[in-house]
Amino acid sequence: MVADKAADSSKEVNEKMDILTSTRTVVKEALDKLGYPNEVYELLKDSLRMIRVRIPVRMDDGSVKVFTGFRAQHNDAVGPTKGGVRFHPDVTETEVNALAIWMSLKAGIVDLPYGGGKGGIICDPREMSFRELENLSRGYVRAISQFVGPTKDIPAPDVFTNSQIMAWMMDEYSRMDEFNNPGFITGKPIVLGGSHGRESATAKGVTICIEEAAKKRGFELEGAKIVVQGFGNAGSFLSKFLHEAGAKVVGISDAYGALYDPEGLDIDYLLDRRDSFGTVTTLFKNTITNKELLELDCDILVPAAVQNQITEENAHNIKADIIVEAANGPTTMEATKILTERGKLLVPDVLASSGGVTVSYFEWVQNNQGYYWPEEEIEEKLYKVMKKSFDTIYNTAQTRRVNMRLAAYMVGVRKMAEASRYRGWV
Ligand code: GLU
Repeated sequence: MVADKAADSSKEVNEKMDILTSTRTVVKEALDKLGYPNEVYELLKDSLRMIRVRIPVRMDDGSVKVFTGFRAQHNDAVGPTKGGVRFHPDVTETEVNALAIWMSLKAGIVDLPYGGGKGGIICDPREMSFRELENLSRGYVRAISQFVGPTKDIPAPDVFTNSQIMAWMMDEYSRMDEFNNPGFITGKPIVLGGSHGRESATAKGVTICIEEAAKKRGFELEGAKIVVQGFGNAGSFLSKFLHEAGAKVVGISDAYGALYDPEGLDIDYLLDRRDSFGTVTTLFKNTITNKELLELDCDILVPAAVQNQITEENAHNIKADIIVEAANGPTTMEATKILTERGKLLVPDVLASSGGVTVSYFEWVQNNQGYYWPEEEIEEKLYKVMKKSFDTIYNTAQTRRVNMRLAAYMVGVRKMAEASRYRGWV
């Protein structure tokens, strides 16, 4: 039992190291293709700053538990760093570092005036009370307060964090600053300066990428068979949008299992029954595994859960023609190679999931100007950004004869490399 646990955690550590290593490998490849010298890679392969904090929290039973948190600031040549904070038991410093690099790439791809940042706290919010979560969120902000702020580094939601957590964090920062400071964080509730459309923005962005990818392969979303892995924020909104667009969502999953119906699942019912962590399959008897889900017969597969889901072990069995990565890092480097060789159209995470940070940027702009836009305006702006980014990356892939992941990295690193050069850093 103990040995199993040790093996599990070392697998976890290795996987996270793999994510950082493969991110660096593709960043290097992209910089080489663009003709940058090695010193640019030396600068960009790591975060400029990595802050590690210890957060004591008074628990409901009166005891004090000390949590560990991180905040990585990858590169701020273009502008303040930006990125979410995740609350998860498997958070590691290596993972936060890799995710910060991804945020820089996303900001470059959708052309925002930001660099990338990321935060994480090692904790399990599923086992914590509302009050304990509030104390942890406030403690984290107090611990990192001197390094963050509306013009320095702007946090946002990520895995297992939400608008309530953003509200506590904003309140804590504002109290320390002695004035209301909504631009400190994005993903807030609307009444506290949040933006319309922020909650569903990642899924909206993914939907736009799916539509564009389907067009390239000559089919419509209406009637297309789609499998979505994960029913969290991205997966659930995405299933809803796809269902509304007339697609047949034939498979969905959560951390405990997956559901399959070749005629299309009753998405409204599932949305109604999911809990706040995205769990729904536990209500059903006839489930399949997440592994089986990925290999189902469908036109489009959307991994919207966790990393390392499509590997060299199952890449040969993927039946979907299009794979759109809504999660961060769901496909390994070896699997990307296999899928590319098999002629699949793979829309990479750094492009597909950039709708969230795009609307976060709109939220920050609205906070800074103190004037708020209606939902239609946000949707229109998001559509333009996503469509343009998709086209740029698709065309780069075609003209440079590279896969879409490498094309996305090329587009993503360019601005940051140029800004770093103009500043005289490299
Ligand atoms: N956590 C989201 C991401 O990974 C959003 C970040 C943000 O809005 O700043 O893209």
